[in-house]
Amino acid sequence: MTLNPKNNQTNSTTLTFHGGAGSVTGSNFLLETGSIKILVDCGLFQGCNVCEDKTRAPFSYDPATIDYLFVTHAHIDHTGRIPKLVKDGFKGTIYSTLPTKELSGLMLMDSMRILASEAKEDKKPPLYSEKDVENSMRLWKTEQYHTDIPLKDNITVSFKDAGHILGSAMIEFKRGSKKLVMTGDLGNSPTPLLKDTEPITDANYLVMESVYGDRNHESRNERKRFLENIIESVALHKGVLLIPAFSVERTQEILFEIEQMVETKQIPSIPVFIDSPLAIAVTDIYKKYDDYFNKDVKYGISSGNEIFSFSQLHLTKTREASKAIFAAHDPKIIIAGSGMSHGGRIVHHEKRYLPKQTTTLLIVGYQAPGSLGRQLQEGAKKVTILGDEVAVNAKVVEARSYSSHKDSDALLRFAEKTIDSVEKVFVVMGEMKSSTFLTQRLRDYLGIDAVAPREGDSVMLDF
Ligand SMILES: [Zn+2]
Repeated sequence: MTLNPKNNQTNSTTLTFHGGAGSVTGSNFLLETGSIKILVDCGLFQGCNVCEDKTRAPFSYDPATIDYLFVTHAHIDHTGRIPKLVKDGFKGTIYSTLPTKELSGLMLMDSMRILASEAKEDKKPPLYSEKDVENSMRLWKTEQYHTDIPLKDNITVSFKDAGHILGSAMIEFKRGSKKLVMTGDLGNSPTPLLKDTEPITDANYLVMESVYGDRNHESRNERKRFLENIIESVALHKGVLLIPAFSVERTQEILFEIEQMVETKQIPSIPVFIDSPLAIAVTDIYKKYDDYFNKDVKYGISSGNEIFSFSQLHLTKTREASKAIFAAHDPKIIIAGSGMSHGGRIVHHEKRYLPKQTTTLLIVGYQAPGSLGRQLQEGAKKVTILGDEVAVNAKVVEARSYSSHKDSDALLRFAEKTIDSVEKVFVVMGEMKSSTFLTQRLRDYLGIDAVAPREGDSVMLDF
């Protein structure tokens, strides 16, 4: 389907929504101008029944003909098919910020191992190999925020801070007087660690995310009190607090908040286990890029505070160390991946601790339909974990403001800043009901011409 065709424009560019339209995951957008083809993101489809088939399906364009790939941030639903793109013939240049490249290298290796073991179970060939990840890294260049990258056809590209995870960027395309901005995921600013999302004030076209397009988060202060109350209750009842956390950003934010509460003695000091080699490695990268943090955190660091470090913090890298957590006395806090309880070490802890009434499971992020996390979020009393039926007697609670995404009101405020220049907003990267809801709000409240494209849709832009 073609939306709003403007074939007669001289400076016309086609934008095709190959993934991440009508769904949160699989972000993949193609811009085609006269002589160049540019992709933004190349993510994995996750958390749905047909996702694996979609991830494995051939690209609907020839990767060999693509000149550039710009990567908004290191989350796997934005990067997970890059090695497949390279394996299938892409020889262009990949661009992102430096932390995004470094985090992506880690995450893609991790994802490669998970995909390979899933493929082995299903007796299918692996999606890609370590070699494909290495080849991707070789094509990958980095640039700082606000530095123009000149391309052909008078197009320049630059990154702006999206405030979503370390190194996350909005991609700003400029050509003559026209500007097109793809937001990637937009941070839930202000956040404990990162700088705020930069405002966009002069875009003609905006391609924006909508994960929480139809919902609002509770306030940050409430969330800290909420976490404090949960930890106090777990300590009092000698229970276990399980937090299935995403390795990037969420884990570091939670760690940072627990560290602050421990240091100010707001909570009793109980053992905290980060049970994820990936989250531990990611945390090390966070420590390296302290210049990307907000001024409060930078001030703390310059005053001598060591970040992500306190006496009862245990980093369990090995399988043996992970198993030993079972033997550690309760109360305790276990933070482990994966964030949607789709594999990873958290499922072992869930299998063991969900039947206990003294356990609290804290959900801190988006749970895709079909995932174990989504079943628990929706109140399932029995779930299947690692082939066994498990009774859920634990308390399941949700803190939505841990989300690293803007909520509906914040997305609206973000779009409002560019209201004077914007010709069209494309609402993507959300479940359809979320995208449609935000689209409607943009139209009704701001009078913006907004649409929620479907996967495969193409649109001609006057750009
Ligand atoms: Zn993201």
